Amino acid sequence: MAGKKITPIDKWHRTYCPYCGVGCGLKVGVHAGKVAKVMGDEAHPSTRGMLCKKPMYLPEALVTDDRLLYPQVRPHQDAPFQRASWDQAIGYAANKFTQIIADHGPDAVAIYGSGQFSTEDYYTANKLLKGYIGTNNFDANSRLCMASAVVGYVTSLGSDGPPPGYKDIDVADCFFLIGTNTAACHPVVFNRIKKRKKANPDAVIIVVDPRETQTAKLADIFLPIRPGTDVPLLNAMLNVIINEGLIDWEFINGHTEEWQAAVQSAMSWMPAQAAEVCGVDEYKIVAAARAFAKSAGTLSFWSMGVNQSSVGVEKNHGIINLHLATAQISKPGAGPFSLTGQPNAMGGREAGGLCHILPGYRLIKNVDHRAEIAGYWGVPLENINPNPGAPAVEMFEKVAEGEIKAIWIACTNPVVSMPNIDVVEAALRRAELVIVQDAYHPTDTTEFAHVLFPAAQWSEKEGVMTNSERRITYLPKMVEAPGECLPDWEIFTRFGRAMGFEDGFYFENASQVFDEFSWLTTNRVCDYSGVNYKRLQMEGPLQWPVPRPDHPGSEQLYANKRFPTASGKAKFNATPHTMPVEATDEMYPLVLNTGRLADQWHTMTRTGKSEQLTKANPEPFVEIHPDDAKKLGIRDGDMVKVASRRGTAMAEAKVTPRTREGQVFMPFHWGRLSGYNKAANNLTTDAVDPRSKEPELKACAVSVVPIWASDWLENVTERLEREKEAEPTA
Ligand code: SF4
Repeated sequence: MAGKKITPIDKWHRTYCPYCGVGCGLKVGVHAGKVAKVMGDEAHPSTRGMLCKKPMYLPEALVTDDRLLYPQVRPHQDAPFQRASWDQAIGYAANKFTQIIADHGPDAVAIYGSGQFSTEDYYTANKLLKGYIGTNNFDANSRLCMASAVVGYVTSLGSDGPPPGYKDIDVADCFFLIGTNTAACHPVVFNRIKKRKKANPDAVIIVVDPRETQTAKLADIFLPIRPGTDVPLLNAMLNVIINEGLIDWEFINGHTEEWQAAVQSAMSWMPAQAAEVCGVDEYKIVAAARAFAKSAGTLSFWSMGVNQSSVGVEKNHGIINLHLATAQISKPGAGPFSLTGQPNAMGGREAGGLCHILPGYRLIKNVDHRAEIAGYWGVPLENINPNPGAPAVEMFEKVAEGEIKAIWIACTNPVVSMPNIDVVEAALRRAELVIVQDAYHPTDTTEFAHVLFPAAQWSEKEGVMTNSERRITYLPKMVEAPGECLPDWEIFTRFGRAMGFEDGFYFENASQVFDEFSWLTTNRVCDYSGVNYKRLQMEGPLQWPVPRPDHPGSEQLYANKRFPTASGKAKFNATPHTMPVEATDEMYPLVLNTGRLADQWHTMTRTGKSEQLTKANPEPFVEIHPDDAKKLGIRDGDMVKVASRRGTAMAEAKVTPRTREGQVFMPFHWGRLSGYNKAANNLTTDAVDPRSKEPELKACAVSVVPIWASDWLENVTERLEREKEAEPTA
């Protein structure tokens, strides 16, 4: 009888998952120089051997025919690429950068990076642009996922960084899951919540989501609010907490300020009024507020449903206000806990990987912070521009307008993941120089490149990453990178040297980069100064702050109830409500909600290569409520056309009550390379939150019609236009 095929393994390594921000520890078996097997690592303190399906299929995504193996250059976007040596390709791109900077100033160049960078990659790119070239035009795709949480934490608690850790799940008695399909997007965290519920059936799970997701099935209290009505809900919950005397005066008086700002916002939202606006039952709002306040420990989790909004910061403030009012913070099992979407979006924030920050959670606008960094980098203070650079959406707009002339895109695929893709494509067509640094080619984004830099990816380079619970994990190099691929930090280093910045870009290995960065975090909230590669290799992953080599790391931030603000107190913020979601009308009567699938990762450059992961959903789809489907003449399985004020997409209709009447849902993973009309981001709006600059990727107004009807409509429109043109003019 044929037995199960055993994969021979030459060596096992301990590392970290390159997908979501849960940051599961992995054990990776290597055979014949290739990654052969991936499993959970029981020794990793964050996840103790747990993992989801996605990383198990990494072996087949690493060795593929579409790996980008050599640097390539072409004079214009219609010309064929020519293979080049690294020196030739970097020399060509560095000369172009130098020329553009000489002609138009440093703000004419930009780098768009990624939460899939290692911390070392982030750090070198930042140093190059902000310290040496003299522009803050470095932003990353984490702008699309976490920027609203960053602003929320800073303006409420005095610093970025989620205060709790995963261990708090095991002792929490109330879970407030808002704008997060944790079951699909952070499955290992979700399983831990489920375990806690099993151990303590009295633990209350509150889920707030317009859609009845897999996560909502676990809810004791499910609040399927209308898109964009999170702020009224949060205000009404605080209203109940105030009116029922559930606030914690000792905490408010001793450890917070500006309480009246929150009171004013809350008192303008009675639960009955919020219930009407949100489209949920009043008694459920009251029950959620009571459970939140009365529990011995309440943990809030949130992700894109909160952050990807033009009022994302208000929503973050609303959540944190609830925690401060009830003292559900600074104790075990409690606190506001944003879940990062990418494996190292957290490390990127620590390394200064957004256009308004510098390494060690420093701010570009703070002259003392700029002086500290300039002094350490050995560059004149004037080198660091005092104004933030262009955040993601604005960066591509500036490229489209011709203000930014050279854009270097690394480790990300914005032609799929950015909202309103037409603008991104137009920008890349207009740019004088597009450098794309990626592990794969073609992608939707490499199509627009003048220069391709082949990047080593997960398993092929060493570095560190930080997960959602502030835990820093060392990722070893386990296999040789194929072809001439180099680690991203090394490409930035070589580029810096080619531009004449040899002193600043002396790095010979990733460990040197890490040591320079970790020193810069000394005495900062995200203090890594007690960590180096050797310690992480010997002791395993640690949670910052780790301020000394003998410090064990920190499970909770602000456990002493002192916050890193001028007064040492946390701050309440006003949360006025403005309806963020683009208005519906007769032409666009439905609200599109975009999101993720459990088996796919971002733009599918890796997960899309696995038959196992794609078989559940090989094609995009549109979920629509049965009543809407009936009105529109749509049957389950029909192909439909979805149109917004920006573009169109086509997909198969799934008629289901999971999605509420008046709304539709589409996953965002597909790009135009797999079929022009498959991209949900053909439709989405690039409206942004005014403070975080995070775009409203989650919701926009659309119409949905069956394909036959759309053809008919187009024909009628075309005929009417032709007839109008033919009409004699007076
Ligand atoms: S939950 Fe996230 S980090 Fe963990 S294995 Fe799955 S994708 Fe990787």
